[in-house]
Amino acid sequence: MVLLASRGVACEQAVLYSASANFSDFIVMSHSEVSQLISRLVRPEIQAMQAYSVADATGLLKLDAMENPYTWPSSMQQEWLEVLKDVEMNRYPDPEGRALCEQLRRAMVVPQGQALLLGNGSDELIQILALALARPGAKLMAFEPGFVMYRLIAELAGMDYLGVPLNSDNFSIDLEQTLLAVRTYQPALIFIAYPNNPTGNAFDTLLIDTIVEEAEGLVVIDEAYQPFAEDSFMGRLGQHGNMLVMRTVSKLGLAGLRLGVLAAAPALINELNKVRLPYNINVLTQASATFALKHAGIFARQAAIIRAERHNLQRALAAIRGVQVFPSRANFILFKVPAGRADGVFADLKVAGILIKNMHPAGGVLQDCLRVTVGTPEQNQQFLAALRKIL
Ligand code: PMP
Repeated sequence: MVLLASRGVACEQAVLYSASANFSDFIVMSHSEVSQLISRLVRPEIQAMQAYSVADATGLLKLDAMENPYTWPSSMQQEWLEVLKDVEMNRYPDPEGRALCEQLRRAMVVPQGQALLLGNGSDELIQILALALARPGAKLMAFEPGFVMYRLIAELAGMDYLGVPLNSDNFSIDLEQTLLAVRTYQPALIFIAYPNNPTGNAFDTLLIDTIVEEAEGLVVIDEAYQPFAEDSFMGRLGQHGNMLVMRTVSKLGLAGLRLGVLAAAPALINELNKVRLPYNINVLTQASATFALKHAGIFARQAAIIRAERHNLQRALAAIRGVQVFPSRANFILFKVPAGRADGVFADLKVAGILIKNMHPAGGVLQDCLRVTVGTPEQNQQFLAALRKIL
């Protein structure tokens, strides 16, 4: 018997198809039979999980996902379309994305002697790292609050997740607690987002150095927000064999391409490359990113505008009574509203046509917190006007 995908069949039914029968001999499975199948076959930890949910932004001003609000000048768009015309859609992509890697090396100033691994977004690189290191009992450590994919991917890969709380007042690293966790559990993999999401702050680099020195496992400095932090560990690659630097082009303005980059010692990249699925970076992404990075100046100018706007938005938010703003080195701002109001403010903003991220459901230190992505000056004004009205 061959099981046909249940999705193609009217909602709540799955169909069993006997190889010897024709299509009129479908055996319809009941909903409870499918449930039994799931509980018998799907790993319990996956059954217990929720799929990563993305809010529907149809018709809304999208300030929820740290995207760059700017597009390209029309001359650049035309040039890009010319490049795409020559892309061979009938061919598999270059498996290692060599031309793109060369361009990335230059754009991200990767030190000589370090190798690169490309991922379908840095999400995929996190997954590759976890899959490679998921020996029985291996631990993945990250700070809390932090980027949720570290925990989700740890669970999926079968690693134990270790969340180390940040100091609750300013989201800085609690070095004593962190070193205790590192020495006690010696995690195989540690992620340090620099700057951190969702808090927006960049941790003290000396503390990060101390953690890298104490750790016997790999420490990945996740520099997703590097264009807005203007600081990087990339230049220090090679000083510590266990340190890796991860970047993405998403926040720079190419979120739709799905491209992440991991830089590390060649021997390490060689091992991780075995986990990567062949052809993970499609031809359109390779051609488009290679083209876009030749115009790095445009992205640098856009990032500078966003940094300046972040400053304006921070000041304007802080001037609203009842709002507490946390300092940000990224392209988003975490802020707190009066107790018990976050859900309401989030919903009212949505009614006003603006989508931001409600962090309140995460609880703990994120209680009463919301996160807004820095948009264009006009978008930020629209958000601020709506927020002032609501509060
Ligand atoms: N790291 C951090 C800290 C992030 O906030 C994000 C996205 N929000 C990512 C990695 C993933 O980026 P992408 O998969 O788009 O490259």
